[in-house]
Amino acid sequence: NAPLAQVDPEIAAVLDGELARQRDTLEMIASENFVPTAVLEAQGSVLTNKYAEGYPGKRYYGGCEQVDIAENLAKDRAQALFGAEHVNVQPHSGAQANAAVLHALIRPGDKILGLELAHGGHLTHGMKINFSGRLYDVAGYGVDPTTHRIDMDAVRKAALEHQPDVIIAGWSAYPRQLDFAAFREIADEVGAKLWVDMAHFAGLVAAGLHPSPVPYADVTSSTVHKTIGGPRSGFILTREEYAKKIDSAVFPGQQGGPLMHVVAAKAVAFKIAASEGFKERQERTVRGARIIADRLTQSDVTDAGVSVLTGGTDVHLALVDLRNSQLDGQQAEDLLHDAGITVNRNAVPFDPRPPRVTSGLRIGTPALATRGFGDTEFTEVADIIATALKDGATADVDALAARVARLTADFPLYPNL
Ligand code: PLP
Repeated sequence: NAPLAQVDPEIAAVLDGELARQRDTLEMIASENFVPTAVLEAQGSVLTNKYAEGYPGKRYYGGCEQVDIAENLAKDRAQALFGAEHVNVQPHSGAQANAAVLHALIRPGDKILGLELAHGGHLTHGMKINFSGRLYDVAGYGVDPTTHRIDMDAVRKAALEHQPDVIIAGWSAYPRQLDFAAFREIADEVGAKLWVDMAHFAGLVAAGLHPSPVPYADVTSSTVHKTIGGPRSGFILTREEYAKKIDSAVFPGQQGGPLMHVVAAKAVAFKIAASEGFKERQERTVRGARIIADRLTQSDVTDAGVSVLTGGTDVHLALVDLRNSQLDGQQAEDLLHDAGITVNRNAVPFDPRPPRVTSGLRIGTPALATRGFGDTEFTEVADIIATALKDGATADVDALAARVARLTADFPLYPNL
């Protein structure tokens, strides 16, 4: 039981290096966050030793009395937070949750209709070489070419044309709220089940800042590690009608033993998500994204060919459109990286560039809101990004990096680690 630094100095150096990187840069990948140390503690615990195939009270292994308590707490807290009839907290990840959802709702060869990957959908919503694209018959709906918003008339038209068995509402890169009532109506009209993947905006739903899909969807899936800010993992909410099917699709359908250290950490994250402090953080998250979108729609920026898809945001991210800029997505990502800001390049709808390059950036605020940033700091961040993107190849990277360094110094991350 020697310390990590002694057993494996190379991995210890990676942990130290990563902590330093997280501390010294501005993390703006929209799907990332900083978990509280309580989550780190639960996740880095002896619960990792425990096999617990099955569900609380119905395990296939002995010695599950403690982990049963943890799983029941995680379930009860998620159920209370989202008002769901049934919860499964065992999916190891968002993708595994989604595999279980489709496994439970339909059979291979059945039809699914989701947002096109190139328009902000997720791999598990029907991408060709993902399990979803290989096992199911995939049709897609896109965003409107002018407004870049999801047009519910177009979704209805696609549903009537393709007659899907499951309609998917949810996204990885879309800056607006979804109309779940309209999705429900369309699903009912064509006799489809409605699955909402709220992986990105679940924290906003928990805080009451985004409409909840739960009253409308047959099944709602999510990750825990994006806006919720918990451990990297997934969970599924469902109507009682599908509870048994979902549970057996997760185990034994998709997974063996649940990661009980992660399930315990999910319980901690759901407890925190019910607090007033969490709500206030989500409010700062959304306001921060608006501040960034507002700054990037001012004329000094738009004159350089940079704009924001849909002209703004209602959620925790903004999507930058670089189709008319001197920078492509890769160059813009690299430029911000050099200034100390981590974002990811992202295809925009109707992107003329290949997916490895892209003509867009996805910029998210959850991690910085968790770090404590408010309007003042987000205004400064927005101006650093605006300056970099409008100046492009001539940007004064050292000056921008110095501004980033001031912000990171003022908001120490994990001071006790
Ligand atoms: N669903 C959506 C909408 C996502 O954006 C993501 C992650 O990017 C996932 C599912 C998959 O989550 P994970 O990476 O945990 O498999």
